Amino acid sequence: MIALAEEIINGRRLGKADKLSVLVTADLKELCEGADKIRKALCGNRADLCSIVNGRGGKCSENCKFCAQSAHYHTECEEYGFLKTDEFLAGAKAAVEQGISRYSIVTAGRTLEGDDLENAIAAYQAMHQAYPDLILCASHGLMKEEDLRRLHNAGVTMYHTNIETSEEYFSKICTTHTFQDKLTEIKRARAAGLIVCSGGIFGMGETWEDRLLMAALLAELEVASIPLNFLLPIPGTPFAHTEPLSQEEMIRITAVFRYLNPTAFLRIAAGRGRFSNGGEELFCAGANAVLTGDMLTTVGNKTAQDRDMLLRIGFEL
Ligand code: SF4
Repeated sequence: MIALAEEIINGRRLGKADKLSVLVTADLKELCEGADKIRKALCGNRADLCSIVNGRGGKCSENCKFCAQSAHYHTECEEYGFLKTDEFLAGAKAAVEQGISRYSIVTAGRTLEGDDLENAIAAYQAMHQAYPDLILCASHGLMKEEDLRRLHNAGVTMYHTNIETSEEYFSKICTTHTFQDKLTEIKRARAAGLIVCSGGIFGMGETWEDRLLMAALLAELEVASIPLNFLLPIPGTPFAHTEPLSQEEMIRITAVFRYLNPTAFLRIAAGRGRFSNGGEELFCAGANAVLTGDMLTTVGNKTAQDRDMLLRIGFEL
């Protein structure tokens, strides 16, 4: 694995035509050493911290089986309309004070339009003006290209839309929109001048083959930031009783994604609470970015603890 890592550092890029199954059977310690080496050589030591605010909660028309906010399932998710600009400004201020570099509004729902879109534009403009050094990201579902361009003009630089899993497995997790819709959205975001952040969720019953195909596709798409979420089964959703992934599997997924996406931000998001130390092992297995603080509908890790952990293992913030 170290020899393969060296080849990647020297310019080799893996794709779906390669025999990727070696990454699944390799000795985990060696795999992680190689992934860490790739990260250090091609990404450096800077860790990227982001935080999110759920700008509109619940009542979503879509049926993503992992999600607490889908109106198709009976969950205890809080339902509310689009928040006020002052609330977003307060969140942006807290992010700046905690040394977080990126801040994103995320909204439940298939898309963002009408008054909520206008309010989002106003909120992004206000945040950009108040905190020009804070990088603004956005996640609002399947938007039109002209609306994405308006977000960009309001100060947003990165658009988040997860592909979630492999193309082959997608219909097992959602049927109200398609994998193709996701790919189209990625194209639209790029056409609107936005950088793309796209990853997915693991532990939804997908196979290693699905994970490898997903990692290879994200590499083909040259996605700059890849969120890795590990399913937190939500009561009331179809995945409520899904067996959580082992720590070993979470570490291997992270390392495998680094071999296939050597220069991307590998962003650990939901699910690392299963590690008592904040998931330190994941950041020694190729990850170099983190969604800190609370997730959309689940409790996350405290930013101060994340900062301490990352500094302790040699990252710069
Ligand atoms: S993941 Fe997004 S689109 Fe899917 S149900 Fe949840 S809020 Fe709706």
